[in-house]
Amino acid sequence: MNFDAIVVGSGISGGWVAKELCERGIKTLLIERGPNVEHRTDYLDFAPPWEVPNRGEVPEAEKAEHYAIQSTNYAFNSASKKWWVRDSEHPYSTPADRPYAWIRGYHLGGRSITWGRQTYRLSDYDFNANKLDGNGVDWPIRYADLSPWYDRVERFAGISGSIEGLEQLPDGQFLPPMELNCVEQSFKKQIESNHPTRRVTVGRCAHLTEPTAEHIALGRGPCQLRSVCERGCGYGAYFSSLSATLPAARRTGNLTVVTDAIVERLDYDHAKRRVSAVRVMDAKTKQGRSYQARVVFVCASTIGTAQILLSSRSEYFPNGLANSSDAVGRYLMDHVVGLGASGTHPGFLDRYYYGRRPTGFYLPRYINITERDGVDFVRGFAFQGYSGRSTWDRARNEVGVGAELKQRLRNPGRWEMRLVGLGEMLPRAENRVTLDARRTDQWGLPLVHIDCTHGENERRLAERANRDAAAMLAAAGFENIEANGGIKPPGHSVHEMGTARMGHDPATSVLNRYNQAHDVSNLFVTDGSCMVSTGTANPSLTYMALSARAANHAADLLSSGEI
Ligand SMILES: Cc1cc2nc3c(=O)[nH]c(=O)nc-3n(C[C@H](O)[C@H](O)[C@H](O)COP(=O)(O)OP(=O)(O)OC[C@H]3O[C@@H](n4cnc5c(N)ncnc54)[C@H](O)[C@@H]3O)c2cc1C
Repeated sequence: MNFDAIVVGSGISGGWVAKELCERGIKTLLIERGPNVEHRTDYLDFAPPWEVPNRGEVPEAEKAEHYAIQSTNYAFNSASKKWWVRDSEHPYSTPADRPYAWIRGYHLGGRSITWGRQTYRLSDYDFNANKLDGNGVDWPIRYADLSPWYDRVERFAGISGSIEGLEQLPDGQFLPPMELNCVEQSFKKQIESNHPTRRVTVGRCAHLTEPTAEHIALGRGPCQLRSVCERGCGYGAYFSSLSATLPAARRTGNLTVVTDAIVERLDYDHAKRRVSAVRVMDAKTKQGRSYQARVVFVCASTIGTAQILLSSRSEYFPNGLANSSDAVGRYLMDHVVGLGASGTHPGFLDRYYYGRRPTGFYLPRYINITERDGVDFVRGFAFQGYSGRSTWDRARNEVGVGAELKQRLRNPGRWEMRLVGLGEMLPRAENRVTLDARRTDQWGLPLVHIDCTHGENERRLAERANRDAAAMLAAAGFENIEANGGIKPPGHSVHEMGTARMGHDPATSVLNRYNQAHDVSNLFVTDGSCMVSTGTANPSLTYMALSARAANHAADLLSSGEI
């Protein structure tokens, strides 16, 4: 079968590419390795607590047998379980002393169903960083290149947030912000008066606070503050491929979707310097087939994309497609997590809040921007935080039975606050995805091997983040302050990036400034693998903007006949 374009992967990146291409009139095939998901009917978001299996818990034996890695994620529970791969069925390897948590979901929509929806722009502090301190290669774009695309994706996705006027956290096209609660407002006041260049703002998130006509036309409605988002949202109140980009692509009449179709490899035509076919294996029958198109976008997520490119070996690319630079699979990065601290507040006992707000607050990076004295590392960290009186968790976790327990739960308890640091990780060539030379999965495809560790810069930055978090909580009157547990192995922030990086130079990078492979003219990659550095912002908004930009560039090249 022939199409104008093929997109591999239906997550945040693939969804955006499909939407933009279809809206440009391009007949597009979207290939997804996992099963179909029906928006609304396949979600458990309307199940009352007593109908959720085990009140959300997954039995320890089941976790150990099938979800040893996935179950370490905060959003894994019995109502969201089907959005995570079974580790037992999708193995990968790491060196014994260098664990990496590869957290993923294989189904239509990918991790756009389970993601935390925090959405921040990168700034020129991030786009200039590699060039300035010499770690990694220079980004081939700057903020001005991406700014209009951030505008475009924010308007369509629906991002709520407040305007702050900070250089390191550019403002965007926001729907009305959610509100900080009383303890967060007090914390904000305290921090901003003690540290005039630090800022506390409500978390920017991909939730509709006031849907526009464009959102409503897609069947999306306002956020109901339920915070069961990891189950999927029947209101379409948060952005996902299923609520937003795929319906928009479908209504053009230009989209074809195939699910349960694992892309094994891409064939290469050396004479034309093009991908000539996408080879697929049916996930259920294991039958092979192939598709052709004038342009191919690989959006299978950072490690999944590296897997496909490395598997696509040929006489001309013996180390994997588009890999003359040997950069495919290398420079794997993930935000540093496990940083920060928590505490309880003795006051505000007569105050509460309405609803379960699905975002926290945000304290953007200040280190090496407005505060440089005594800093012995490059880059920095940002904090996400939240505060509340966690009646819900206590109702699940508190020990007891009967009237006495119910009486006790009427008291919502003290206010708690947690500051969760997100630190920048530097790109290093030895942090790498390769293919196992011997072992294969149940489809006969080589297992992925991930070798990735944090370095000295990450450790120093983590120490400073822990110190600052504890000091800020103490200054704001919190007690019982505890560290968040220490730096976690990479993978746990689920912000994996870098395995097919952009760059000016084909000798050291895989993609050009439009996410087009230097080596292969009709191949584009727009998921996290294209990232050149991590910054401190949660990255998916940037994948959206890069995807929309690259798709429109490819559409221009298709119409001019250049590809
Ligand atoms: C719990 C959680 C919280 C998160 N919170 C945030 C947040 O607050 N903010 C933020 O920015 N990011 C967050 N993330 C990360 C975010 O989910 C990812 O950055 C984003 O989903 C990546 O999009 P993607 O399209 O690149 O990959 P995915 O969404 O993973 O989609 C890739 C798709 O490709 C498919 N695929 C893979 N291999 C193949 C193949 N060989 N053939 C065919 N199809 C294939 C997969 O099945 C999948 O559907 C979070 C993630 C999780 C799990």
